[in-house]
Amino acid sequence: MKNILNTQELPFCKGCGHDLIAKSTAAALEKSGCSPLDIILVTDIGCHGIIDTSFNTHTIHGLHGRSVSLGVGISLGLNNSDKKVIVFTGDGGATIGLQHIMEAARLNINMTIVIHNNMLYGMTGGQTSGLTPQGFNTTTAPSGNTFEQYDICGLAHTAGASYISRILGIGNIADKLAEAINTNGCSVVEVIELCPGYGMKLNPKRKLAEILESSGKSEGIWTNNRLPFAVDIKEEPTSLLKNLKAIEIIDKPQLKSSYTVLLSGSAGEGVQTAANILAITAVSSGYHVTQKGSYPVTVGVGFSTAEIIISPNEILYHGMTIPDIAIITSQDGLNHSKKRINLMNNGILMIDSSLSAPQTGARVYNIDFRSIGVKSASMFSLFYFSEISKILPHAAIFKAIEQHGDAHKIPLDKIKEIFRFDVL
Ligand code: SF4
Repeated sequence: MKNILNTQELPFCKGCGHDLIAKSTAAALEKSGCSPLDIILVTDIGCHGIIDTSFNTHTIHGLHGRSVSLGVGISLGLNNSDKKVIVFTGDGGATIGLQHIMEAARLNINMTIVIHNNMLYGMTGGQTSGLTPQGFNTTTAPSGNTFEQYDICGLAHTAGASYISRILGIGNIADKLAEAINTNGCSVVEVIELCPGYGMKLNPKRKLAEILESSGKSEGIWTNNRLPFAVDIKEEPTSLLKNLKAIEIIDKPQLKSSYTVLLSGSAGEGVQTAANILAITAVSSGYHVTQKGSYPVTVGVGFSTAEIIISPNEILYHGMTIPDIAIITSQDGLNHSKKRINLMNNGILMIDSSLSAPQTGARVYNIDFRSIGVKSASMFSLFYFSEISKILPHAAIFKAIEQHGDAHKIPLDKIKEIFRFDVL
């Protein structure tokens, strides 16, 4: 059987407690006879999460504190006790996502949560977390944390997890982890460890056992005699793709090679909708297409950028560095994409006439995209794209708009009218 770990050189600082946890978890899984492809490892934000590529299993990297909720979804979705869902989280992530741990415990979801409790946020500089014991020094509490930490094991036990343990991250902990992993239901293991980068430096000469004891906690195992949450599937699951409308292919590809298109404007100005319509147009014209959007977390503020690849051949990677064609409809879009435009040695730049074109080797077209109204500027730009690049015909864009769910928001009559006079 393939090893669970693909290397013994793990990416942590020398002496980091995460090293022991990762190796012991792998040993516990191997000892339990688990095949790597039956294991789904979900990691959280934090140093422990850089382990992803060292595991030969399925791995998923979650947002801070959300790894447990991802694990719950995976466990329920798989609904297969032969699969092992293991969630790694730090003490910071465990505190941020405390409610997710409580729900997993309360519902007794079939999964194992391994809390890497080094008593501070290691990755971000040694700050106090909700699991930092009272008196433990951190960079944000250099004279010792004044608050008592959460009793995460007590909380998980009260919430109803089948198996909970607190162990010191010293010596051989594989058997203890195996016990948790082989529990039917939710198991939570809190491993107390030290971060040499911050914890050891700020708390010199302190030993793990003494830190645990002086925090008023102890190693131990707690159980609840409960059955795991059972998913009762009465009907065959419906594919999410079932309700998607198939795009009708109305043409054969005319291009011999692929084109990368960058559409960049402001959030709330229809950039992603325009990109989607461009993608539909290209698919209906017989091409392979990828579409990728990016915009700030705060919706409706700042830039909105879309990358589309149009190719007569299968596309194996959706990434793009320097576009063949860049369409810039606003200052936000220009600010976000300026560096890439600078790097264009050829190709086409279509930029709103209110903006100054940055230095570029691309052929520049200044066009008043925003004259149609800011919310339709990106959509409007597609017709200029069609006209100038000749990659896709107008008629196919109009047809794609008709197929699109947001077609009613697009001032088609106005676009047709303006276009007829200005460009055609
Ligand atoms: S900073 Fe601390 S937690 Fe992070 S890898 Fe280094 S020792 Fe481990």
